[in-house]
Amino acid sequence: MISIASGKGGTGKTLVAVNLALSLAGEGYDVHLIDCDVEEPNDHLFLAPVIERSEEVSLMVPRVDGEKCDLCRACVDFCAFNALALAGDKVMIFDELCHSCGGCSLVCPREAVYEEPATIGRMECGKVNVSSGRAMSFCHGVLEIGEPKASPIIKRIKEEIREGAVNILDGGPGSGCAVMETVQDSDYCVLVTEPTPFGLHDLRMALDMVGELGVPHGVVINKYVPGGEGIDAFCVEARVPVLMRIPYKREYAALYSRGGNLVEEIPEWRERFLHLFRGIAGERVAGEVR
Ligand code: SF4
Ligand code: SF4
Repeated sequence: MISIASGKGGTGKTLVAVNLALSLAGEGYDVHLIDCDVEEPNDHLFLAPVIERSEEVSLMVPRVDGEKCDLCRACVDFCAFNALALAGDKVMIFDELCHSCGGCSLVCPREAVYEEPATIGRMECGKVNVSSGRAMSFCHGVLEIGEPKASPIIKRIKEEIREGAVNILDGGPGSGCAVMETVQDSDYCVLVTEPTPFGLHDLRMALDMVGELGVPHGVVINKYVPGGEGIDAFCVEARVPVLMRIPYKREYAALYSRGGNLVEEIPEWRERFLHLFRGIAGERVAGEVR
């Protein structure tokens, strides 16, 4: 299970996840690609998967039976997320703040709180036909517009992780709850960065995150310019291996912007991504030894 994260958005996580998956599938590996960037999934734009299964993801949220409620406030005082408020003669519920802990129904002395499901998004799974004639499996989550809770959808799509396959999880930007949900339990995390001040700043935060989670990790530098922002020196100092450098080239940007994939259009990249995979396997072993 290899997760792809970055800290900063727009550094090239999708590029790395998609091309790594395609190169391995083309070599005959059983690959399962999961797009966990549920706020803005875009792996499908580069892969055109055939969706075979779609499922709503919902969470249980509380509702109050006005006939039974005596406005005692016990539920309001209990909720640590301010998802409940007493307004006049009724309890108001803010679904978007609720974390579905179920506590309010437990503390209500009049059994006035019941729960009902609220849809927060959906999961879609299917297959991608790879140019070599092989197929790889694919899943992504799509969060409803305006819905702030990404983690439950990520939890659900991670249930689709396939034993025995190379599972590649493309995470969202940042280093918050949703990304931690994606990265935790990974065998390895690839941190994609770029040689800009923001890239370096957010890489530091991402390194803190993977360190905290105890996940072995290495860096891919995208849009690489030798010496740019001192990123190489930073990685040496932080003792984090650089697994791959993708040069800053107009040709690559043009290819990417029209939905093309490096490993399909520039054959040498297939070998480079396979080399990246071998590097990950090697670092994983080295990490266990260290
Ligand atoms: S289920 Fe938990 S988070 Fe949601 S309103 Fe009740 S106490 Fe608050
Ligand atoms: S705890 Fe029960 S009775 Fe008290 S305000 Fe909440 S819903 Fe009403």
